[in-house]
Parts: sequence; C-alpha cells; structure tokens
Amino acid sequence: MKRLLLVLSAPSGGGKTTIAKKLLQVRKDLGYSVSATTRATRNGERDGEDYHFLSREEFERRRDRGEFLEWAEYGAQLYGTLKREIDRIFGEGRHAVLDIEIEGARQIRRNFPNSLQVFVLPPSADVLVERLKRRNTENPELLRKRLTHASEELAAVAEYDYAVVNEDLETAVDQVSAILDGKAEDRLISRQHDLPARIERLRRDVVKAAGKI
Ligand code: 5GP
Repeated sequence: MKRLLLVLSAPSGGGKTTIAKKLLQVRKDLGYSVSATTRATRNGERDGEDYHFLSREEFERRRDRGEFLEWAEYGAQLYGTLKREIDRIFGEGRHAVLDIEIEGARQIRRNFPNSLQVFVLPPSADVLVERLKRRNTENPELLRKRLTHASEELAAVAEYDYAVVNEDLETAVDQVSAILDGKAEDRLISRQHDLPARIERLRRDVVKAAGKI
C-alpha cells in the first residue's frame, strides 16, 4: 500500500481537528501525526496525545537537529511535525493525517508533491465566529486577531488540491475519506467553479465580523 500524507488546514475554528478525530475513528488505515508545540496546554489536552508540549528551547534544539518535517510560527508560538511521528505511522502501515496551518502545508507541498492537501472551509463567517467564541469567550482582542488571521488564511485556499465545506460533520468526514480513496474528484478545487466567489464572500464577511467585535 502506498502511504499518504493527508494535510488538513482550516482557519482556527474551521473544525478540522474534529474532522480529523472523527476520521480516525472510522478509518483504521489512518494515524494522527501528533505535532510538537510551544504553546500552553488547553483544558482537557494531553501531552503526547493532542500535542507534544515542548519548551521553546527544546523545540528549537530539535529543530536545529533537523527533527522536523516542517515547522512554523503561529500566534507567537512554534508548531511542527516531527519526522519520527510520520515514521511511526508509516511503520504501522497507515496513512498519516496532519492538522497543520498554511505555512507548514506549503513546506510539505514543496517536499512531498504526492501529499493530499485539503482545506476545510467554515460554512459561513457567522459559524466561524460562533465556534471561536465558544473556544475563547472572554477575550475580544484575541477573537479579533483570529478572525483577521482567518481572512488571510482563506486567501491561501487556491494553493490546496481539495476543498471541503464543514457544514455537516458527517458529510465533511465522508468527503475527506473519499479524497483519501481517490474518489472525490468533485472536491478538487479546480472542479469547484463557485469556490472563488464563495471564498471572497467569506473573507468579506469575516473582516466585517472582526470589525464589529
Ligand atoms: P492550536 O493552537 O489552535 O491547536 O493550533 C493553531 C494552528 O497551528 C492550527 O492552525 C493548527 O492546525 C496549526 N498546527 C498544529 N500543529 C502544527 C504543526 O505541526 N505544524 C504546523 N505548521 N502547524 C500546526
């Protein structure tokens, strides 16, 4: 079996982590690449399961030793995919799913032209705002920053191979699963002719929503 790198990106609040977790429940031929990060643990997160939580010094030491397949700075924190995570998953005979932001996805695209790159879109700006608020209720400044960042991330959709709208979780999971099986040509960005207009609308609405906070 040819092992694949499945890259999932989305603006923060886009729902890609939920999709990845659900996908892992239904596909035993898939393993989750546990990233390393310097950010603090959030409620309920476990070291070694959600992330490998590292100090900045430790992250930089490993980076300088060449232990990362890709890495990026996001919101003043470092994030990266450890080569040994992918070795572990491929060693188990599985495909690897990477939940990473757009800069890391670019590095993967450059070095692994055969990776599958999927961008997960929120169904609307309102849904994105709601999801972000749920995650971070009391900090409007951070919310505004995330929305501004989301608008920038949406500008990178055209770099990906596939786009999936996360309106209904089950449908989105089915679509990503079909992409993995090479049976989702209709999700190819090049085939979704209404996509540029949809993304423009989303970006406009996200910027508007950020202005109202
Ligand atoms: P969060 O702090 O909300 O868990 O993640 C922030 C962003 O970092 C998300 O867009 C997430 O996909 C991204 N991210 C998580 N792990 C990695 C990684 O290993 N590499 C890169 N480049 N981005 C990551």
